[in-house]
Amino acid sequence: MLEFDAGRFAREFSKELAPRDTLPLGQVLRIHTRDCYTGQIKADGSVGPSLGPNPATGPFFVEGARPGDTLVVEVLDIGLPAYGIMRVREGLGAMQEVIQGHDARVLPIQGGKTCLNGVWLPLAPMIGVIGVAPGGSAVDNDTPGRHGGNMDDRRIGPGARVYLPVAVEGALFGLGDLHAQMGDGEVAICGLEVAGYVDLRLSLLHGRQEEWPVVERDGSFSINCSAKTLDEAARLARYGLHRFLQSRTKLDANTVAMLQSLVCDLSVCQLVDPLVTVRMALRSGVLDIAF
Ligand code: CA
Ligand code: CA
Repeated sequence: MLEFDAGRFAREFSKELAPRDTLPLGQVLRIHTRDCYTGQIKADGSVGPSLGPNPATGPFFVEGARPGDTLVVEVLDIGLPAYGIMRVREGLGAMQEVIQGHDARVLPIQGGKTCLNGVWLPLAPMIGVIGVAPGGSAVDNDTPGRHGGNMDDRRIGPGARVYLPVAVEGALFGLGDLHAQMGDGEVAICGLEVAGYVDLRLSLLHGRQEEWPVVERDGSFSINCSAKTLDEAARLARYGLHRFLQSRTKLDANTVAMLQSLVCDLSVCQLVDPLVTVRMALRSGVLDIAF
């Protein structure tokens, strides 16, 4: 297995950055990542100087990727360390009416569970930041968009396929911000933040792409859209999924809208980043379609 350490990372997705390595297609790759605090919060809970948020290991040049292609990232496994970190503080996130002070905690990870103040909780590892360089200006890793980035979609875990629209030669792929668990919305501003590794396999679909990232999991497809407001992100996601489904099924517009009203789910990925992310997902087992 080809393995890449977390030593070199980027804080933005940018066509101007030089790639650190070239990734081959079709092989299992292991990419290590730092946590979203870049190791600022230690295992004993002490807080060191900030090195900036959301490092994404990369950028990687993907062999053969050209603008107009879709990069398919098959997430095979996520490796977790022995602990994760949560940090909340006044003025950040969507729970500002109740959060007081600054509260950084180290939570153990043991036997597939974590423990918050005596309550044992299940884990569901996922990737918060995953993307490619946009064709235009650089986008910092706090911000999601058409290129992917900080989408914080809890469905992006083992078993998922992420379809990213390639805008530049080599894609300039990167990922980071792993969470051992996170609820839809990420309301207090963090998941259970971890350093770790992702095992994945890459492939390309040449000459076709969607406008927004698509996530496939167990035959369920979602379109993930980001905007300044939840209203706008939700509008983009429901019309995005409409276009996606209509192009695959050839059903008329009204029928697809009805189908969406019956068996598709509109959900908040996160509402705490500079742009918020909403996904609309076709449920599993409903239609036999492909990207
Ligand atoms: Ca995030
Ligand atoms: Ca995070």
